[in-house]
Amino acid sequence: MIPPDGNAVRLSDRQVDIIATRLAERLSAPPAAQSNTTTASINAPRSAPVIAPRVALGEGVFTTVDDAVEAAGVAFRELDGMSLDRRRKIIASIRSSMLEHAEELARHAQSETGLGRAEHKAIKNRLVARKTAGTEVLTSHAVTGDHGLTLTEYAPFGVIGAITPTTNPTSTIICNTIAMLSAGNSIVFNVHPNASECSMANVRLLHRAIVDAGGPDNLVSTVAEPTIESAQALMGHEGVRLLTVTGGSGVVRQAMASGKRAICAGPGNPPVVVDATADLEHAARGIIAGASFDNNIVCTDEKEVIAVESIVQELLQKMIHFGAYLLTGSELSRVEQAIFSEQRGPRRRSVVQKDLIGKNAKEILARAGISCMGDPPLLVARVPNDHPLVWTEQMMPVLPVTSVPDVDRGIELAKEAEHGYGHSSGMYSRDIDALSRMARTINTSIFTKNGPFFAGLGEGGEGYTSFTIASPTGEGLTGPISFSRLRRCVLVDHFRIV
Ligand code: NAD
Repeated sequence: MIPPDGNAVRLSDRQVDIIATRLAERLSAPPAAQSNTTTASINAPRSAPVIAPRVALGEGVFTTVDDAVEAAGVAFRELDGMSLDRRRKIIASIRSSMLEHAEELARHAQSETGLGRAEHKAIKNRLVARKTAGTEVLTSHAVTGDHGLTLTEYAPFGVIGAITPTTNPTSTIICNTIAMLSAGNSIVFNVHPNASECSMANVRLLHRAIVDAGGPDNLVSTVAEPTIESAQALMGHEGVRLLTVTGGSGVVRQAMASGKRAICAGPGNPPVVVDATADLEHAARGIIAGASFDNNIVCTDEKEVIAVESIVQELLQKMIHFGAYLLTGSELSRVEQAIFSEQRGPRRRSVVQKDLIGKNAKEILARAGISCMGDPPLLVARVPNDHPLVWTEQMMPVLPVTSVPDVDRGIELAKEAEHGYGHSSGMYSRDIDALSRMARTINTSIFTKNGPFFAGLGEGGEGYTSFTIASPTGEGLTGPISFSRLRRCVLVDHFRIV
């Protein structure tokens, strides 16, 4: 896990002043309404947020999509006229501010959406602040020869319209901002209505970090009252050059039908296969850590375990040893009744009970009328291959474990259960042939071997991170290059210097 970054960041005097002012604001009553302040409530939060709710305009927050796009257009032109060094300073300031506010934003997102665990959301916020790729990846490419020099550079698109989910509201905003701004773009966010308060707070903090570093106002902007309609208006807006959507199948379909270039990060149902050669203790620990991460709402989290028959019992025993709660047959029936609003039969996706998405395992047990000691991170249940839990992206800490006669049947079932999303998958094995076979067969954007799936996001694994994993459109883990246009400049017959 990433350690807290107490010493990693040096704050300017101005940043210190801003933080002190914000702390003072939070400790006192909410500030009196200003003339340009609305008190519009978007979706009533389910419990009191940590940051006082206010939908004030300004600092990147606009009433209409038109206003937000216009302001982002002005900001883009200003950024376009600035040096690369200034852009680097803006990104550094954003990273520093987001590390500073990672926990506060995490608590805010959890209390507003009611999803996941604040401590895991803080890990996600710190991860994206530190490991989203920045300007450093935009290296120009030069080719020289008898006919001179050809240079290829990464250029911005302009204004990007970005639609963000409720499951990772702040980490997606932070990640998109670092990657899109690094490439020289400006952004208009249409955030999920159920996460609008924390998202507005996030946009304000980003706005301040950008302006503190000498960047333009409104480089990151948003609409104060996001709805499906405002998302669709953004998709159709002539001032928006590129769309990026992060969410379920509905928003992906809509973006692809918009007629604009769209980078689409859609749903997944990540399977993990465990074969007879695996280190079962390591597998049990890793699967519990991964599948319980933020109560399973992260799109890359392990959603079903497919284990070879000969080791499935031992794997389950070890999972219980490391803290998972094993549901008995009758308990599983009660949990199914609680978590599904509709079951559509074997090998088909069930409809999940929305108000249990992202809840703690203990709360799900309570809803099913089952009492338990402590706070188990994860519920596990042994199920047949065709059980709806295997086929459904449940986004709850309820993990089905199903068995297969051998590893090849496991890979086959994993491919079927993944539904062809091409999103995420993984395997615990010491057999390199089996690992390679599964990686090739399942063909997902991320394939994690012998570790929790969050390692595939760079948390405990190598490489940069992204919370917009564009499987349908093929960019995979998006970064600054995904949000760039390639431009070529050719000098004929000169500047080959050898
Ligand atoms: P969601 O699809 O309900 O909402 C995502 C965003 O799309 C929201 O801002 C919502 O307002 C908007 N939206 C939804 N339908 C729309 C439509 N028809 N037109 C315009 N806008 C629309 O998803 P969610 O519940 O916020 O997130 C969970 C889903 O997102 C899961 O399926 C998860 O796998 C997926 N997800 C994928 C990634 C990824 O990187 N691939 C990341 C996070 C979440």
